[in-house]
This record gives sequence, C-alpha cells and structure tokens, in this order.
Amino acid sequence: MQLTSRADRTATVSPVNVRPRSDRTVLVTGGAGYIGSHTAVALLEQGFEVIIVDDLSNSSARAVEVVGHLTGRNVTFIEGDLTDSTVVASVFASHPIDAVIHFAGLKAVGESVEQPLRYYRTNLLSTMNLLEAMQSNGVFDLVFSSSATVYGDPDTVPIPESAPLRTTNPYGATKLMIEDICRDVAASDPRWNISLLRYFNPVGAHPSGQLGEDPNGIPNNLVPFVMQVAVGRRDEVAVFGDDYDTPDGTGVRDYIHVVDLALGHIAALDRRGGRCEAYNLGTGNGSSVLEIIAAASAASGVEIPYRLADRRPGDIATSLADPTRANTELGWRADRALDVMLTDAWRWQSGNPNGFASDTAS
Ligand code: NAD
Ligand code: UDP
Repeated sequence: MQLTSRADRTATVSPVNVRPRSDRTVLVTGGAGYIGSHTAVALLEQGFEVIIVDDLSNSSARAVEVVGHLTGRNVTFIEGDLTDSTVVASVFASHPIDAVIHFAGLKAVGESVEQPLRYYRTNLLSTMNLLEAMQSNGVFDLVFSSSATVYGDPDTVPIPESAPLRTTNPYGATKLMIEDICRDVAASDPRWNISLLRYFNPVGAHPSGQLGEDPNGIPNNLVPFVMQVAVGRRDEVAVFGDDYDTPDGTGVRDYIHVVDLALGHIAALDRRGGRCEAYNLGTGNGSSVLEIIAAASAASGVEIPYRLADRRPGDIATSLADPTRANTELGWRADRALDVMLTDAWRWQSGNPNGFASDTAS
C-alpha cells in the first residue's frame, strides 16, 4: 500500500520502525509446507526477502521450487530440523533475519494422541530453539501459527479471542503451551512483538493450481479427503456424524482460503505496538460437511459419493471465528468465498492427483 499523505500515515498502525519490505528478510520455518509455502509466495510478491527452513518431514522440496517459479524470486532454502539448536543457531549466524514466521511443527490431532512425546518434543523444542536464537540475535518480531483448537469446545460461537482457552489433545496442548511461552517471553522484554494467529480451517490452493495441500497418507481433514474422492483416489467420503446440533446435523466449520490466511501473516508482520497479541484468522461464516461436499461437487463437476458414519471422537459441533479483532487491528479480512476455495482446491487436485509427486516424472 502506498502512503500518500501525513493523514494517511497517522491513520496507519504506527509505521515507526517499519522498513521497506525489500529491506526485510523473513525466516519462514515450515515454509515447504501447505500454509508456509503459500505465505512465502505472498511475502515474495510483496517484496520481502524469504529464507525457508524445513526438514521436509511433511513436505516436498518441490514446493519450494514452485514458490520460486511462481514469484520469479530467489528463495533461500535450508533443509534442517529446528529441534536441533545448532541448526537454528547456524541459520541465524549465516543470514540477516528481521522477522520470523513460525509454521514448522507436527499438526495431526489423532497422531498426537498416539505419540504425545513426539509432539511435545517437536513442537516445543523447535519453538524454544527459535525463541532463544531470536533473542540472542536481537530479532524480536515473531508471527506464530496457533490454532482455533486452543478454544476446545467453545461455550459460544462465533468465538472471540477472549474466550476461555482449553484443549483436549496433545497437539492442542502444544499450541497453548507455546502461546503461554510467547506471552511470558514478551512480558519480559518490551522489544518483543509477537502475533499469535489462531487459524480456523485453512483450505484451497494457489490459483495457479501449482501449489496446494499434499497430505501424507489418508487425509485427516475434510477438504483434502473430498478432493481425493472427486479425483478418484478414494471411493466415498465418510460424514462423521449427522446428529449434531447444527442446521443439517453435520459439523460446521469456518473454512478460510489459504491465500487469505497467508495475507493475514503479512498484516501481522506489519503490526507494531503490542508485545504479544492473539488474532483469530477466519471468515466468520460457517459451512457444514454436507455443504462442503455439495460445493466441492459443484466446483469439480463430479458427483461426490458419501455415507453417514459415526461421530469422530473429540469433534465439536460448531467452530466459527469472530474475526473482528484482525479486521480492526490488522486491517485484514478474508474475502475469498467458499466456491473460490473449492475451485482452487480442485484445480490443484485435478492437475496434481498425487500432489507434488505427480510432476516428478514430467
Ligand atoms: P504442514 O505439515 O504442511 O507444514 C509444516 C511444515 O513444518 C512441514 O513442511 C514440515 O516438514 C515442517 N516441519 C515439521 N517439523 C519440523 C522440524 N522439526 N524442523 C523443521 N521443519 C519441520 O502443515 P500446515 O498445514 O502448513 O501447518 C502449518 C502450521 O499451522 C502448523 O504449525 C500447524 O499446526 C498450524 N495450523 C494448521 C492448520 C491446518 O488445518 N492446516 C490449522 C491450524 C494451525
Ligand atoms: N469430517 C468428516 N469426514 C472426514 C473428515 C472430516 O465428516 O473425512 C468432518 C469433521 O467431523 C468436522 C469437519 O468435517 O465436522 C471438518 O473436519 P477437519 O478434520 O477438516 O477439521 P477440524 O475437525 O480440525 O475442524
């Protein structure tokens, strides 16, 4: 955004210390992953320099190549494990870093119940190493991938950031613990500027169809599963419960386009003035499982078979963001509609039926 007058400047969230984007280098941890790669594209398109660190445990180096290709920009990629403090220290020692967006971590709820120690170790240790390296290198701007899971089963929807925080699984516990660590760290030194972004349900893909979600194995999440049914990789969608207290009995979620989510990170990077603040990133609109299946059929032109199944343990009826705070304080709003989310998801899935593995032979 071009600032044109003094009045405009004073109306903007304090521009003090905000340097031109071309001078700012952002370390994107987990930048080969689904949300990180889309955010790297958005950062590069807006002029930031980007360094990605990822151990490729849940992603492909091909995603980083696509990021460079889509933007025509150079991306520095370091393959490394953030739980190793020497790796993190060497990244900071060898690159000038102004800010960090921290996506890296493990994210499957069911897996976290089966392997809690792996989840606590990976998510907590990575973040500790990163915060320590940031502090010792004088880097105090952090945007962290939190999740709506920190609200557990909410008392009311839409959910404001002030809602009680509670979790029901080790994955969610790591998010809540990291939020607590960030709050304590920020309280200890006013130079910290930490944004905790609580994502609702990210879906969709880059509009080019070249970058998208590429889950390992059977997808846990609804939209990737539905897309794999549409493309013929799986037979039918199991609808987990039709007896919830929702308009059609199936679970309602706040789906947000991954490109809108990516832009939320850039809005958070520009934020100044608070030490550690939490923001919901969602649309404020809910869609049921049956609505998603219908919208995916419309977007793909494919009839998507489904069957009603039991509820999935731990699921809640409705999760819906109150995104007012991000709207007013970050000047950010999600504006891509559900049909765009599913059309973009379908373009990615139909062009790359086996994800990033699809084009290795070509
Ligand atoms: P993703 O798995 O696609 O990306 C995470 C990346 O982190 C992967 O590329 C993986 O290889 C990397 N990684 C994992 N452990 C690492 C380590 N020790 N060192 C270096 N790299 C490591 O997941 P995503 O969907 O892009 O999610 C990004 C972040 O957003 C995660 O922290 C996740 O918990 C959070 N989040 C995701 C969702 C969602 O529905 N996708 C919702 C809420 C929050
Ligand atoms: N869901 C479903 N079948 C699936 C996967 C998910 O019916 O194969 C439902 C799930 O019960 C929830 C909604 O789809 O109501 C979104 O689930 P997802 O796992 O994508 O997100 P989360 O549960 O983390 O909000």
